[in-house]
Amino acid sequence: MECKKKENTSSCSCTYDPCPRKGICCECIAYHRKNGEIPGCFFSEKGEKTYDRSFENFIKDKKNENIYGNL
Ligand code: SF4
Repeated sequence: MECKKKENTSSCSCTYDPCPRKGICCECIAYHRKNGEIPGCFFSEKGEKTYDRSFENFIKDKKNENIYGNL
């Protein structure tokens, strides 16, 4: 199976551009899972920009999203 890095990168909502894993979703997930985190694309636009990929921030982000909508 061929890596769809180019295709994935164009639809990736993570704004941390210097990341070497951008568009390589399997590496992105493995990296964040190893660190007890969640990839940036799971967060709202506002939550993603905090660069805090912790579970705590993810839960906070989803609660805010439910209260205030997808800001
Ligand atoms: S979520 Fe993390 S690993 Fe994935 S592209 Fe963004 S900074 Fe890189």
